Amino acid sequence: MLINLKEFLKPNSLKEAWKVYQKDPEHTLFSTGGLSTALREDERTQIVLDLKGLLPNQIENREDHIFIGGNMTINEAMNSLKDHDLVQVLKQVGTNQIRNMATISGTIGQKYGWSDIITALVAYKAKVRVYNDDGESNIPIEEYLGSKVPSIVLGVTIEQKYNFGTFHYISRTDYDVSQFNFYLCASVENGRMVEVGIAYGARPGFAQRFNEAEEMLKDLPLNELVGKTDKIVEKVENANVSTGFGLSQEYRKELLKVYLKRSLQALSESF
Ligand SMILES: Cc1cc2nc3c(=O)[nH]c(=O)nc-3n(C[C@H](O)[C@H](O)[C@H](O)COP(=O)(O)OP(=O)(O)OC[C@H]3O[C@@H](n4cnc5c(N)ncnc54)[C@H](O)[C@@H]3O)c2cc1C
Repeated sequence: MLINLKEFLKPNSLKEAWKVYQKDPEHTLFSTGGLSTALREDERTQIVLDLKGLLPNQIENREDHIFIGGNMTINEAMNSLKDHDLVQVLKQVGTNQIRNMATISGTIGQKYGWSDIITALVAYKAKVRVYNDDGESNIPIEEYLGSKVPSIVLGVTIEQKYNFGTFHYISRTDYDVSQFNFYLCASVENGRMVEVGIAYGARPGFAQRFNEAEEMLKDLPLNELVGKTDKIVEKVENANVSTGFGLSQEYRKELLKVYLKRSLQALSESF
């Protein structure tokens, strides 16, 4: 419960929202889907700024990228993205009721370390569209996650070039959040991996790219993948995972090896 909440405001424009926020950032909280805001307990928040209705509400399908509007709920994004690989992740988030309420902007803005969606977006090297003092801009998701500069999340952009994506996770129960998650995506052209993105989250902490494995895979012909898999999996020893959230560091490394092997096998069989 927000025990010191005084005002719940619905601004008419982003400009107005930002002006209100700037007056008292310490005590003001953005809300889009409102699911996490509703469950939040703090003594700090005095103003909730409801942004629902002010943010982009649809998918923009361009030649080189897809933009997912931040106002979209997980279910809306899932239905609009149809057969995009990201749907594998969206459809396993919480329950149907959670997916009907939680939004793309709220998910990114909340920056949960265990978020499945954020792990996939980090693998895709997605760009977050934000609004702040500098107006609108698109910034790499890793930069956004690491930054303390406040901003309103308007949505997220993924490049169209990725034609393979696979997701793995472990959780205590079907409806619980992930204790560890993993996403691998690739852009394969003429039998060669021209771009690869790999990320793991709930490590515990923000999702992290697996740069060493990405570098070994970049430009590799698919028919050499099986022969290289063991060498790539060896790099898991340097992975940035630790103990917590019910799993040991050693177990997270074992999971990462298994997820990586399974994903590379699926990749080699997909084209
Ligand atoms: C019970 C439960 C189970 C869940 N299970 C999963 C799961 O299995 N997998 C998974 O990936 N996720 C899961 N989630 C997380 C969920 O998908 C959303 O990430 C979460 O609910 C936040 O989305 P929201 O739209 O409700 O955010 P809100 O409640 O609206 O906002 C959350 C926070 O984000 C910030 N924020 C909100 N809007 C903006 C904005 N436009 N710009 C900048 N910052 C903003 C604010 O700090 C706000 O406090 C679960 C959540 C719950 C409550």
